[in-house]
This record gives sequence, structure tokens and C-alpha cells, in this order.
Amino acid sequence: MAEAVVTDFSPEVSSPEQTLLRQLHSIIDGYLNKEQVDSIIRAYHFGAKAHHGQFRKSGEAYICHPLSVAITLAEMHMDTQGVTAAILHDVVEDTPITKEQIAEEFNQDVADLVDAVTKLTQLDNKSRAEAQAENVRKMLLAMAKDLRVIIVKLADRLHNMQTLGAMPLEKKRRIAKETQEIYVPLANRLSMNSIRHQLESLCFESIYPNRHKAIQQAVKKARGNRNEIVNMIESAIKNRLNQTGLIFDVSGREKNIASIYKKMQRQKISFSNVFDVYAFRIYCDHVDDCYRILGCVHNLYKPIPGKFKDYIALPKANGYQSLHTILIGPYGVPIEIQIRTHEMHRMAESGIAAHWLYKSSDSSGDHVRAQATEWLRDLLEIQKTAGNSLEFIDNLKVDLYPQEVFVFTPQGNIIKLPRGATIVDFAYAVHTDIGSTCVSARIDNKLIPLQTQLENGMTVEVITASWARPNPLWLNHIITAKARSSIRNYLKNFQQQDAISLGRRLLNKELQSLNIKFDDIEDARIIELLDVMQMHSIDELLEEIGLGNKMPILVAKHISQEDIHAAIKLDDSNTKHAPLIIRGTEGMVITLAKCCHPIPGDHIVGFFNPGKGIVIHHHECRNSKEVRKQHSSWIDVEWCPELSGDFSVELKIELLNQRGTLATIASTISSLDANIESVTIANQDDKVSVDLITLAVKDRLHLAHIIRKLKKLFIILKITRTKA
Ligand code: MN
Repeated sequence: MAEAVVTDFSPEVSSPEQTLLRQLHSIIDGYLNKEQVDSIIRAYHFGAKAHHGQFRKSGEAYICHPLSVAITLAEMHMDTQGVTAAILHDVVEDTPITKEQIAEEFNQDVADLVDAVTKLTQLDNKSRAEAQAENVRKMLLAMAKDLRVIIVKLADRLHNMQTLGAMPLEKKRRIAKETQEIYVPLANRLSMNSIRHQLESLCFESIYPNRHKAIQQAVKKARGNRNEIVNMIESAIKNRLNQTGLIFDVSGREKNIASIYKKMQRQKISFSNVFDVYAFRIYCDHVDDCYRILGCVHNLYKPIPGKFKDYIALPKANGYQSLHTILIGPYGVPIEIQIRTHEMHRMAESGIAAHWLYKSSDSSGDHVRAQATEWLRDLLEIQKTAGNSLEFIDNLKVDLYPQEVFVFTPQGNIIKLPRGATIVDFAYAVHTDIGSTCVSARIDNKLIPLQTQLENGMTVEVITASWARPNPLWLNHIITAKARSSIRNYLKNFQQQDAISLGRRLLNKELQSLNIKFDDIEDARIIELLDVMQMHSIDELLEEIGLGNKMPILVAKHISQEDIHAAIKLDDSNTKHAPLIIRGTEGMVITLAKCCHPIPGDHIVGFFNPGKGIVIHHHECRNSKEVRKQHSSWIDVEWCPELSGDFSVELKIELLNQRGTLATIASTISSLDANIESVTIANQDDKVSVDLITLAVKDRLHLAHIIRKLKKLFIILKITRTKA
């Protein structure tokens, strides 16, 4: 179908598709060379074929939509890549064509543009949550490294707004609101006034259909009375200017309905007060002509004092340049006059889009970026002279938000985080509870680890588990203060809880040996005890015991001293010194020493490490032998008989220095259901290598089995388990 239509420009065939194609063709013919025009027409063939069989709600062939978008951009004299991308902008989203195919068929530049527009389109569908327009705008800019993407997107939105048609009122309204909050300000920032005005009008019509109708009718009625005066003023201006020999154009200007309404609202004045203003625009070629024309019109009609504005010398923040003045016309009617060069006008209408014209014959991405940068530099320059706030430029850096990244919750809320933030930061930003119970996350339906750094536009679904707890290791890869303080807080609290429960166990153990039950101690005795110990609560005392700051035996004796009943039984040696049973997984107050790596089955001893709790050492550990001399700080401990879990142990292996030996060892170890945690080469020469291997085993038996198997390997000369 597409093939038949394209080359046929005969006037008698006039499907909407063909009319649009002809229109586009004639516009691009006016500013692009033959090769560029041909390439755009080829894009049309390609797009028409891809969208073949798809239709707009209006019943038109789908390709009419991208063609209309392309026409809007061509009218702004967008470059070949931009117009091509406009024609293909829905191909990736709505047809099986891929980005790669576009790159192959056209070029990488076009493919990147289409891809970026597709991503922004997907954002439209995500960002439903209200009151985050500012963030959406920032995200759009942040995602579009190439500003042409935003320009295509604006033209796309314009055509969608123009063809809302018979859509249900509520839906129209919603789309219009989104347009008003997000796309109108974007068009404004990029000083694309033509698109901005059209969008504003369409939004007004959809959001306030009745007010729109009323003002439209009032305009129609008032127009009849005006024509005579408009013509009179226009010819008076023309006559006067013709006497100067200047080259100029004059056009009467009628305010659009949306801006009439806005002015009525803002200045609280009636329709006739807004509309009974006669507005003209005068265009010329040179800047100094603007001032000469200004002199002429001031000479023709008296200007109203204080109403003259020189936006040429002092441009507006978005780069807008023009002279504005208000004159008192015949019968005392106010006349608004704007005077500007054609170039200024084009800038005012197309904004940044105007900058891709002509210059972009070489199509490298760098070139385009350089132009955008240049435009921004111009603006910056303008702002300096204009003394305006930098807010505008703040919102428009080409590397737009290097410090920030914007991501979605599954509900479509946008979370703003510093760049480099990870899933954990995100989880805490959503809610502290989500942060502290997160275990992993899904991005675009793929599971990803928690330390993954976020990128703009991702939708992040955090997976939580009720058993999950913050991990101290997270502190290494989070960057937000909220996550940091939440994790620290939690860990502190967690350690406190652990310490209290350990303290209770330790005290109970000592009390048992004195034949006292903790629950039997009278409240009065506890209060007395706390008083003597200068503690505020029993939890505080238990925490101090658990952390190793108070010896449980002393506290127990303190309790028992006045307790005659217990004292009698003090010598009962059967109950004395029952060891503390440990599992090694109690948490932060019982830790396994890193020097000797005790594992279940080993004889072990526990040492109070003041402030930290109990550290478990292998009884042969050299470090522990020193401390054991201080009688009071060590404690009998025993492994719990039923244990499950993995425990680290370190082996020192002397082996032949050959290729593949480590691999052999690794595969032997893993075949025995143990994991290697780390390997360090301690010493090496030509023949022999001494390696330290840390592996996770279940217990002493498991380890013995592994060592036995390893010893059978001929490459191994010697194996010892290191105990400090
Ligand atoms: Mn579209």
C-alpha cells in the first residue's frame, strides 16, 4: 500500500496520508538538499510499511500521526535526523521493528533518537501519580541527552492533543492536565512558543470546554466590530513606515482563547477589557530597524508611559527578544505593538529547534551536542546581561542532572536520589520498613542484587521478607543519609537486644549455679540491686552483662549475698559452672574469633570483650592462652548439639606449584559440599606454593573429611588448619 502512494503526487488522489506527505515534501524541499529530502521520504516508506494495517482512533492510517509530527518539526526547520526520527518515533513501540534495524537502515543517530523517544513514551504511561510534575519534567530532561528527543516528543504530544477527538471527557481532561503540567513548561523552557501556545489552547479547551466555548463565541461576536478599526490602524502604520523606506511586515494579532482567559483571571478584568486591545506585530531584517520602527510608531500614536519594554537589549530569561510598546490609538483604543527581526521571531516561535537549521549538515552526534551547548551558552550570556535568575538554565543543562537520578516505584511515584544511589538507598527512601527488610529487587522484571546502582527511568520493585534484617555490609554501598542513619540505628538497637538476651542467659547460668531462679527474685531486691549498681533498669543491667562490661558471676553473687536460702546451697558443686551453650549465630554479641576460626566440634572458650560481648576462640588458640590467665574474663562455652549452618575455617596448604592445582583443589572442596570463601597465596617459589584457603564447613567432622580427601591429591604436600 505504502509503495503505491508515495511516488504518486497527482492532485486527484488525496487520502489524508497523501495530503500530509505532499505537505511534508514541500516544506523540506524548502530547506534541505535533495539527498536529505530523499532520505526523509525513504523513512516515510519504511514507517508506512511498518505501521501498515494500524489505524488511529479517527480511522486514518496510523502513519498520518508520525507524518503530522514530522510536519510540525519541518516547519521549525528541524534537521534531517530529527524529522526522520519523528516519522519513525512510534515504530519501535508499536511494531516489531527494532532499534538495530533502524540503525542499519538509517543511522545510529536516528536510532538513538527513536529509542530515546520510545523511552519517554513509556514514561508517559508510568507517571500517573500527581503532584510530581516538576520531577517528571526533570526526568525527561535528564533522560534526553539529546535535546532533539524533547523536541520530537513535544511535537508528538501536540498532535496527540490535536486529535483527542471523541475521547471520553475525563480521559481528555487527564491528558490535558498532564500536558499542561509537564509539556507546556518544557516548551516554555526551550522557548518553543509556537508549540507552547498551541498546547495551552488545546489544554484549555479540554479542561474547561464550557469556558472555552463562551470565550470563542464572544470573540466571534466582537471580531465583526473590530475589523474596521484593525484595518484603519494597520494602514496608518504601513503608510507611516513606507515613508521611511524601511523593509518590514505588519500583521494584526489576535490573542488566543487560552491567553484571553489567563489574562481575565490574572488581572481580574472582563472579556471586553482584554479583547478590546488591538495588537500588531512588525517584523524587519535588522536590529537597528526595530528601534527606528519604534520611533515611527511612537510618533504616529502616543505611547502609554511605563508600558515600553526593550526585550532586545534585555532579553527574557528564555532568550525571548522583541520590543513591546502600547499606544493610544484612534477613539482612545489601546494598541499593543511588538517589533522584532525575522530571526528573533523564528527564535521566539521555534526556540531551540531553530538551532538545528542549516548548520547540522554534518550529522555527528558531537556536532549536535556542541550546538545545543552553544545555544545554552548564548542563553547564559543573555541571562548575565539580563540579570535574571539562573533558574531557567538550572533546568536545562545538557548534561542535565549529573547529580541526580529519578526512578519509579511500581505505583508510578517518582523518587529522586543522588547519583550513585543503590537499591538499598531507594528502599529506605520509600519507607524505613521497606529498607530494613529488603532482600533483593526487580527492575524491568529482572532480579538484581541490592548493591546495583540506579539509572534514570528505572521502575524498581523492592522485594522484602519479614525475616530480613539490615546488613552491616550495606553501609559500604549506600550513599543517602537516610539509609545510613536507619541502618546504624537498627544495628545499634539490634546489638542492644542481642546483648540483653545474652546478659539474661549469662546471669541465669550463674544464678542457677547458686540455685536461684531469676523469676523468683523479689522486685524489692531488684530495685536494691539496680541502686547499688547505679543502673536505671534491669534491661540496662542485662545489656551491660551481655556486652561484657559487668561480670555475671559478680552480679549473681550480689543478688545471693543477702539470700540466706541460696547461700546455703552455694557449695552444691553439681550445679556449678554449667557451660553457656552457643550456636555461633546469636548475632552481634557472640562472635567467632577471626584468628582461630572455631567450628562446631572444636573445644572452645569464650572471652568477654568489654563493650562487644563474647568472642569464641578455639581452646588451642594462642591469642586465647594469654587472656585465659585473667581468670575473671573468660567463660565456659559449649557448642549446641544440633547445629546447622556454615562456619569459616582456614587451611594452610603447601602444594606443588603447577598449573591447575588450585582448580583441582577447588573442585575437590566443592564436590564435598563446602564453599571456598577466599584464597591467599602466602608464599611461592618455582616448586612450592603456600596458600591460605578460607572455606565454609558444617563442623569438625565435615572438615576432617575434606582434609582427608585433599591429602590424597598428589599435588598436596602438607595441610594444616591454622589456629592463629
Ligand atoms: Mn506518537
